[in-house]
Amino acid sequence: MRKPVMAGNWKMNKTVAESVDLVKKLSASLAGVSDRDIVVCPPFTSLAIVSEVLKGTSISLGAQNMNDHTDGAYTGEVAPGMLTDVGCQYVILGHSERRQYYGETDELVHKKLQLALDKKLIPIVCVGELLKEREEGRTFQVIEKQIKGGVSGLSPAQATGVIIAYEPVWAIGTGKTATPAQAQEVHFFIRGLMARIYGDAIANSVRILYGGSVKADNIDTLMAQPDIDGGLVGGASLDVNSFTRIVKFVKA
Ligand code: PEP
Repeated sequence: MRKPVMAGNWKMNKTVAESVDLVKKLSASLAGVSDRDIVVCPPFTSLAIVSEVLKGTSISLGAQNMNDHTDGAYTGEVAPGMLTDVGCQYVILGHSERRQYYGETDELVHKKLQLALDKKLIPIVCVGELLKEREEGRTFQVIEKQIKGGVSGLSPAQATGVIIAYEPVWAIGTGKTATPAQAQEVHFFIRGLMARIYGDAIANSVRILYGGSVKADNIDTLMAQPDIDGGLVGGASLDVNSFTRIVKFVKA
C-alpha cells in the first residue's frame, strides 16, 4: 500500500508573517490526519520559522529547490545541508519552472537527486511534457528521457524513497487540469518505466504524484486513479480551505 502524499508548492509567494499565518491555520484544520503525508514547501525565507510552527504537527516541511553542491562559492544558492538544518525533510527537484526559466537539465536534476538522497532529504522529482510535445504525440518519449536522465542509476534503497511528480507543463498554473484518464495513462507509463529500470517491487512502492491545476473540486477523481498517489499543488495550496480539502480527498 502506498501512502498518499499531498505537497503544497508555494512558489515565490508569502512573506514570513503570511507563511506563519497559513501554517498555523493548516495545523489546526489538518490536526489528526495521519493516513496521508502532508508537506508544505514555502519560500526559503520562511523555512526556519515555519519549521518551528510545524513542530509536533502532522505536517512536514519541504524546500522548492537546492543547489547541487554541499557548500562553497555559489552566491545566492542554498545547500541541501542548510535545508536539513532548518528542519526540511523533503525537496522539490526539477520543477518545470526551474527547467524552463533557469535551464535545469536532466543531468543537473540527477546530480541534485544524488546529493539530496545522501543528505537524507526525500526528493520530489518533477517530470512533464510541454503542450507542443503532447500535441506532437511525444509525451511518453519526453517522460522516458526525463526519468532515465534524472532518476536512473540509484541503489534500490534510494530508488524506493524517491517521489516522482508528473506535471504536464500545459496544466501548471493554467487552470487546465489533465483529465484523470490522461494523468493515469502517464502515471502507469512511469511506473512501468521504473519497473524496467528497478524491477516490479520498487516500481510498485514508488509514489507518483500528479501536479497541474489540482483543486478542491478535481482531487477526488484524480485520486480515484490506481497509479495516482497524491498531488503536487501550486496555487490551491496557498489557501487554507482549498489545501485542507485537497489533503482530505475522498477516495471514490
Ligand atoms: C506546481 O506548482 O507544481 C503546480 C502544479 O502548480 P498549480 O497547481 O498552480 O498548477
